Amino acid sequence: MKVKILDKKDSLSTQIFIGIAAGFFLGLGVYLGYLPQEISSFSKWLGSVFLSLLKMIIIPLIFASIIVAVGGLNDIARLGKLGVTTMVYYFFTTALAVMVGLVLVNIVQPGVGAQLNLHEIPDKVSKGGDDSLLSLFARLILEAIPTNIIKSITEMDILAIIFFAIFFGYVLALVGKKGDAVRGFFEGLNEIMMRMTSIILRLAPYGVGAMVVPIIGEVGLEAIGTLLGYSMTVLLGLGVHAVITLPLLLFIFTKSSPFEYFRNMLPAISTAFGTASSSATLPVTIKCAEENGKVRSETASFVLPVGATINMDGTALYESIAVMFIAQAYGIELTLTQQLIVFITATLASVGAAGIPSAGLVMMGVVLNAVGLPLEGIGLILAVDRILDMFRTAINVWGDSIGARILDTINNPSRP
Ligand code: ASP
Repeated sequence: MKVKILDKKDSLSTQIFIGIAAGFFLGLGVYLGYLPQEISSFSKWLGSVFLSLLKMIIIPLIFASIIVAVGGLNDIARLGKLGVTTMVYYFFTTALAVMVGLVLVNIVQPGVGAQLNLHEIPDKVSKGGDDSLLSLFARLILEAIPTNIIKSITEMDILAIIFFAIFFGYVLALVGKKGDAVRGFFEGLNEIMMRMTSIILRLAPYGVGAMVVPIIGEVGLEAIGTLLGYSMTVLLGLGVHAVITLPLLLFIFTKSSPFEYFRNMLPAISTAFGTASSSATLPVTIKCAEENGKVRSETASFVLPVGATINMDGTALYESIAVMFIAQAYGIELTLTQQLIVFITATLASVGAAGIPSAGLVMMGVVLNAVGLPLEGIGLILAVDRILDMFRTAINVWGDSIGARILDTINNPSRP
């Protein structure tokens, strides 16, 4: 029997889990009044330091890694194939996730007869609009083209930066030798950013753990009590997608072990859990996929930034369950056609949601609006949203990671 010694990546994942567990208990201590509130405030600060460090490298990393990946393609036609397969794959898996959500919420019916508190909804919640379904998509494409790349950089508009970097990389490949100096610069920058990610990642056990403290400390677990059925349905759905659907796809397309790949991606998945932001996790996701998961850099650099921005399986699944839950709680029965609209809008809303905390909640207005449900319904699920956000973000990143591995295989048939 082969005995596996705990290697570096496992020990980092273990440390992050210890951090998360410590954060959970410290938060609970604060919530129950056994520990001073200051612990929560200090942890919030510590978590923000970690988050800022991650955010600091996102833009230069995306820029450099995409330009190097696309600019280095010998056969530029491959870019088109990678682009098309990526989009098809992302839509397909997101649709599968929504389907799981809709089936589960119809079986469990967590909202029927639930006793709930209605909280006031945040101002930033998207109000949707009559034409929101189509215009959402059209707007997304328009917003992806930067009119001022410097502004996009300062506003961390990731989709626009991806567009620019792909275009730039594409032309870099076209100009050939003349672009060597520029190529060398971005290769160096890419290397440096990856190394910076490694160094920052050493802080993950503290940073991720610290982010958990104020969440549990402020919300506690009581909120979950009243929303137990809803929370469990969301977690069950996320579990089905993460443990059955995605691993099955990975196995079918790559014949590789989902367990092994999960182990390889664990630092990224746990960082996503702690930060509740797929964008902030992106440097870690790229690093784990390339170095641990052996996804070729040219695939990971393209597929993962796009995935962090538009491929959110966890968010899509949660949107569908949340909206159906709200309808059930209001005693409104949605017809099959209306559920089909939920299916489409939840998929689109997840594409439109940014990879930042609570983005899914903000986008829910679009789905509610499309089926004529009151926006105030969001107030019903607000109390547990931050906690569920951690889980759905972890699944978002797991979905992106599996996508990167599968798309790498599809686009490079010779890979083992
Ligand atoms: N927080 C999620 C993410 O960054 C988006 C969401 O709110 O569902 O992936």
